[in-house]
Formats: sequence, C-alpha cells, structure tokens
Amino acid sequence: MGEVCRICPKNCAVDREKHAGFCGVGSTSYVARCALHMWEEPFISGKNGSGTIFFCGCNLRCIFCQNHEISTCSAPDFAVPADAHRLCEMMLKLQGLGAHNINFVSPTPHVHLIADAVVLARKSGLFIPTVFNTNSYIETESLKRLDGLIDIYLADMKYSTGALAKMLSGAEDYPQKARAAIKEMYAQCGNMQLDADGMAVRGLVIRHLVLPGNVGETAKVLDIIAEDYPKDMYISLMSQYFPTHKANTLPPLDRPLLGREYARATNYALAIGFSNVLVQKMQSATPEYVPKWGVL
Ligand code: SF4
Repeated sequence: MGEVCRICPKNCAVDREKHAGFCGVGSTSYVARCALHMWEEPFISGKNGSGTIFFCGCNLRCIFCQNHEISTCSAPDFAVPADAHRLCEMMLKLQGLGAHNINFVSPTPHVHLIADAVVLARKSGLFIPTVFNTNSYIETESLKRLDGLIDIYLADMKYSTGALAKMLSGAEDYPQKARAAIKEMYAQCGNMQLDADGMAVRGLVIRHLVLPGNVGETAKVLDIIAEDYPKDMYISLMSQYFPTHKANTLPPLDRPLLGREYARATNYALAIGFSNVLVQKMQSATPEYVPKWGVL
C-alpha cells in the first residue's frame, strides 16, 4: 500500500506495510475459506452455491460475531496469504466449480487488493458477478475504488443508534457511516436486478440481523431505510442470531432470537410498505451454519 490507511472510519493512519491497524491487517491479507457456500440469500447461492472468499481480520468488534475465529485473528494457522494473483486463481477456480458469483466476505481492510485482483480476473476470463459482502463500516472514498468492479453489494445495516453500536460493536459512529456507505453502493449499482433464472446480476441488498430484545432497534433501522430508498428496495431480514463469542455475558443477547420477535420485525417491514423483504427460517440460527475454516 505504501500510504497510511484510512479505508474505514477507524482512520488508523498507519502504514500497513509496517504496522497492522485496528483491524489486525498489515501488509498481507489472509484468506480462511475459499469454497462454494449455500447459505446466502437464494438469489446469491442459487443451486450451485456462491463462490465465497472469507478474509481474516475485521474493523468492528461485534460481541456476537459468528465468525470470531477469523475476525479477531488476521493470520490464523489455517489461513493462507493471498496477493492479487492468488486471489485471481481462487476466483477462477470457484467459477470453474460452477459458482454463481464471487463473494468477498469481510472485505473492507482488503479493498485495494480486491480491486487489483478483480481487474486481473476479468482479464483472465472471470465473467460471473462479484459480490462485496460487507459490514458497511467503510468510507465512501474507499468504495469509489470499487466502482465498476463490484456488481453486487450485500450490505449490513446493523444499528440506527450510536450508543448500541458502541456497546455491541465498538463503533459509535456506525449508524451515520454505514448509512453514507450504503448510499454510495446504491449510487454505483442501484437496487437488485435478477436474471430470468432469478439469480442476482447487479445491485444492492440491505441486510439486517434482528437481535434478541432489540426489535425496536430493527424498526428504527427499517425507518431509516424507508427514508433513503424506494419501497421496492431489497431487504434481507436475518433471523440467524445465536449467542456466541462474548454475547453470553450480556442479556438479552445471551439467548436466541424468539420466533415472535422475528415475526414482529418482518411484519413491521411489510407494514411500512417494503415489497421485497427476504425472510429466513428460524432453523438457520445454529452454529452448524458457521462455515468450516481452512477450506481452500
Ligand atoms: S482498514 Fe484497518 S487499518 Fe485501515 S483504517 Fe480501517 S481498521 Fe484501520
């Protein structure tokens, strides 16, 4: 990189060639999993699976992180270092396996590497869509680097309240930063477009994980989305919460989401007029759905 890193609002201003930033990522990016993945939204996973590439390190500290083994460690033993050429190879391998798309998971600290690798992969025959699967805690200037290179944004909108974002993810400015970032993603790609087979081609999906005891927060997040976007915006309301990592210490996050809580959240989304609301089965709220690391 050679310049100080300001990719995300943590604004570490470190030269990552010399030091890792808050996210734990220094000069080398590590990949913990490169494999077909069946558990994204149906128009992302399809019949064959989404071609996921899971990066290590993260710029948030969510106490309920389901991927904490790789988010809190930027270079675990089971991961491999990946430069642009290695990432390009991974993308072409996944395409060869029948992946419907290339899905970069936890990509924020690696945004420059991803941009270089996608350019290389397109020149080398990559023709399936690229997906930026993000917590949305990223500066809009960093996203501009991806304009024309990323086809689909799967963008979290975790919170609307700064105090909650601070308590659960260590980032009080998350609500306004994520809101601005998602607007940039929408400016680049628009709302989700599906092909004749119902698969995602291009566009934005806003994801929100409903948290136990926090349906009121979900309603506020949905209100913000309603202020910013048309009512046909694709919204994925996720029920897959289960207590893990440090969440067992903080009621009500020490229990799964209740069916009636999820029903209240989905009913609210429909009541305020959203027409493209994706819902999950409550059975997906188990550790079995956490990917196996070290699959490369
Ligand atoms: S990407 Fe990492 S090093 Fe860069 S500003 Fe964000 S947390 Fe800091």
